[in-house]
Amino acid sequence: MVGRTVPGECSPEAGPASGDMRAHLNPTRMREISVLADQLASRLDTLCPSCGVPGYGPVDRESGLPCGMCGGATSSTSATIHGCARCPHRSRHPREDGRRSADPAFCDFCNP
Ligand SMILES: [Zn+2]
Ligand SMILES: [Zn+2]
Repeated sequence: MVGRTVPGECSPEAGPASGDMRAHLNPTRMREISVLADQLASRLDTLCPSCGVPGYGPVDRESGLPCGMCGGATSSTSATIHGCARCPHRSRHPREDGRRSADPAFCDFCNP
């Protein structure tokens, strides 16, 4: 009745099945997994800028991302700390997603 899709025009499987959505998400998920694997591999390839030992990568995280509503520090990650397994060298890396403020849901003040 309303906006009937021409069979075979856009989506041959245009049905009410919500399972279709999941099927469409799967490739994305698989891509994310392979990205994680890449990150793991690249970490092993990353040499410590100080002593040159491979395996330099994330060892800690810094919390205290400011709340988007009140600006107070939350327990959300604000930066990742990369470190060396051999020497005390550490470096601080801002969040990769570029987020500057936290969801107020994670704020102890706004959302206790
Ligand atoms: Zn807040
Ligand atoms: Zn080192």
